[in-house]
Amino acid sequence: MAHSYRRILVKLSGEALMAPDGYWLHPQTLAQLAEDLARATRGGFEIALVIGGGNIIRGARMSAAGWIDRPTADSMGMLATVMNSLALETALNAAGVSARTMSAVSMPTICETYARQPALHHLDKGQVLVLAGGTGNPFFTTDTSAVLRAAELHCHAVLKATQVDGVYSADPKTNPEAIRYDHITHDEAIARDLKIMDTAAFALARESRLPVIVGCVHAPSSITAILEGTAPSTLVAP
Ligand code: UDP
Repeated sequence: MAHSYRRILVKLSGEALMAPDGYWLHPQTLAQLAEDLARATRGGFEIALVIGGGNIIRGARMSAAGWIDRPTADSMGMLATVMNSLALETALNAAGVSARTMSAVSMPTICETYARQPALHHLDKGQVLVLAGGTGNPFFTTDTSAVLRAAELHCHAVLKATQVDGVYSADPKTNPEAIRYDHITHDEAIARDLKIMDTAAFALARESRLPVIVGCVHAPSSITAILEGTAPSTLVAP
């Protein structure tokens, strides 16, 4: 089923940029993602992107070791998202798309500081927005940033990229009986304890009545295919 949403916030985890040998960044993967996003914009979709930093640092895990406090580790995590965002902005520009990084953490010599009105203006002009620096606050994740920015930038849906092509009744890697849902509500996802995003992010999506499309973007052109309904995905919507 083709989705009727036009302005989409795409949430990629930092791990989506990693090389097969574990190096934090893989230029070929970046180029493939950028090409896919370029195709989506040519197809009329307006795209805002949030990239995590988990390929470099996750604050909660780092601070659990005990030698660094959580807010400092989270600051490092937010900086990691800026590095990923600049890499993706570069790949998007190379793919012929005008892309603009805006960071919630102010660093004006490196990129624009996030502000809602200029961000809306960039989107209205057809630029791809790369939203870096998370929410700018510790103790949050980029899933929460994705939902927050989607809600404030009038995005019609969040496309949450995962390792599997949707939301399943059980882990499809270990349970052959697992079935993929085509459509579930936010309330059903919570009642069945389906982990789609972290709790804070998902609560905000539910409160904002924001649709979340869950799919896998590993294959070439999969972002466009999910949005056009030719690749499998799960729609979480009221
Ligand atoms: N982070 C943060 N505040 C935010 C977003 C992110 O402190 O609003 C930090 C946090 O340490 C997080 C890290 O940045 O672990 C990387 O983001 P995330 O874990 O969401 O990345 P992903 O798992 O999507 O790659």
